[in-house]
Amino acid sequence: MLTDELNSDGEALPPLPAAPPGKKPRLNVHHAVVGQQQSLETVFPLLQQEVRTKTLRAPAVRHAVDAFYFHCAQQTESTRLDAAFRRELLQYFDEELFDWKDNATPAFVLGTSLNEAVFGSVIKLHLAHDDTEAAWELINKLRRAALAHAAETQKEPTKLHFRTVSPLLEHDCRRGRFLSAFSRWQELKLHDVEWTSAMEDVLTQMVIACIKHNRQQPETDSSEAHFHNQMTSLLHDLQVSCREVTVPNIQRLQNAFRDAGYIVKFVPSDAHMNSKCPCCGRALIKQDLSEAERELMLTAIETRRTKVTPKTTLAKEYLAPFRHWLLQRHEKFQLENPPPTSKRAKPLLHFVLDGPNVAYLNQNFDAGSCRVDQVDALARQLQAQGHLVSITMPNGYLADKFVLRIRTKKMKAARRQGKFSTRERTPLEKDILARWKDEDLVFSCLTNVLSDDLFWLYASVLLGREGRVVTNDQGRDHVYAMLNSDASANGNVTELKAKANDRETESPLISMDLIARWKELTTVNIVIKHEEVTQSSVTAADGMMTPIPIEEIRLLEPLPFSRVPQVTALQHFHFPITEHALQHEHPNQIHTQRQRTRWLCVHRKSSTK
Ligand SMILES: [Zn+2]
Ligand SMILES: [Zn+2]
Repeated sequence: MLTDELNSDGEALPPLPAAPPGKKPRLNVHHAVVGQQQSLETVFPLLQQEVRTKTLRAPAVRHAVDAFYFHCAQQTESTRLDAAFRRELLQYFDEELFDWKDNATPAFVLGTSLNEAVFGSVIKLHLAHDDTEAAWELINKLRRAALAHAAETQKEPTKLHFRTVSPLLEHDCRRGRFLSAFSRWQELKLHDVEWTSAMEDVLTQMVIACIKHNRQQPETDSSEAHFHNQMTSLLHDLQVSCREVTVPNIQRLQNAFRDAGYIVKFVPSDAHMNSKCPCCGRALIKQDLSEAERELMLTAIETRRTKVTPKTTLAKEYLAPFRHWLLQRHEKFQLENPPPTSKRAKPLLHFVLDGPNVAYLNQNFDAGSCRVDQVDALARQLQAQGHLVSITMPNGYLADKFVLRIRTKKMKAARRQGKFSTRERTPLEKDILARWKDEDLVFSCLTNVLSDDLFWLYASVLLGREGRVVTNDQGRDHVYAMLNSDASANGNVTELKAKANDRETESPLISMDLIARWKELTTVNIVIKHEEVTQSSVTAADGMMTPIPIEEIRLLEPLPFSRVPQVTALQHFHFPITEHALQHEHPNQIHTQRQRTRWLCVHRKSSTK
């Protein structure tokens, strides 16, 4: 993997340790430049000598090269670097450091021949003198080198960090060369960079450059069509990289649109958007999953490793009986309930309940319990509305005696000491379980083989548009981790992906964007309100014999639109605003921390003139 000591923010490197006695001292560029205030001109010959004697194969030498060019790029940005010296540095880089020629051997391997960091610095050296062609040529040469190495080793080419190439895009935007930035980005995004939420700032800059560029064009149908297509493309990329836009970027967009004569307004929450946008009157778009993407998710689930025999069996084998059970019930239900003919009637759906999640909802206090009655009440409510209900439960939860999993400090501490609290089923619960069995409502998941989460996830993908999952657990990050766990454990995504192409038993990688869209289509959150009971009157024993009565169960259906930046219609744009850290979405907190869900609506009065 790449060494990353230099980050693009220019954070200081930790000083290298002094050379052990008896070894040749090594060049500490950072110490020389920052500590001893030596000029780069003085350090340069030392660096060259280091490269000559120890070669770039030594990680310490590559590190010195990174550090040296990092300081060069920094000084050139503050215009302290002599022009002739700058040329000398670039020449040395071209002729000595990155002297790879097309079809040359040995292959150039990023991270072994040179680190990626030095390329970012050299690109900045070019840009400081507005030499965008040289910067672009360097990126292209690096891409060719990566492709050549990939072909030789039959692996996927190494992707570049976005921060290596983004200074060029930013530079083009700043200089008002939007079309150049846009076309370069179209090339890079296809194969060469890893998607990351760090793209948000640069993509926002490109959107703004796009708006400015459009203002300078004569207003014709064809210029409007170009603008529409470019904005659609950029907003799509924003959606893939970050979905929501942070406040500082929203402010930048707001200003740029306003300057260009758009009507710019804030919509206070998702609820205001339900039928259509109150500012522009357009209905927001809901994204779908394509059939190919659904297949991809199915494959990703079915090719999970099992806990018992990870080398020989795949999840598919253990999911097969569940699939059979689920689809048989689904088919029977559909035969008995043909789709409504009236448009106003709500379609009947197949709800899959994440059993343990609903049972433990609001139960994380010492007297809490595994409330199968909560699951049952929800099931009855949905059945009364005519829906089909299936429940997934770990097999252990269905036994007459089971282990309680209350998440409080006291209970966790007890578990760490090996003290598990178990309890017997109450008569009330036995009745409930008997009813479930009678109606064939519940599937008992063998959790020693597969996580029970994989079952409801599988169900929701199998049922597609006709299904919903009721759970408060599992932000999209959790599902992402569950589906891509082999990859993250291994750490080498590229290698795994290459393997996945050869062997069909390997799991495909699923993007965060795909999981977010899946979640927006299928996941229903739940709020359970209990009657008010004084806490002191509820002892653990009490809580189990006479559970606190349920007052109300409310389901939060998925939104009728997607919370992503979108081109809703010609000259109508909508941007959802991030006001919470999506990355830290915490299970079971969805309804407790009421998030703000503002939008920015931007539009022009429909072209009536
Ligand atoms: Zn440094
Ligand atoms: Zn609007």
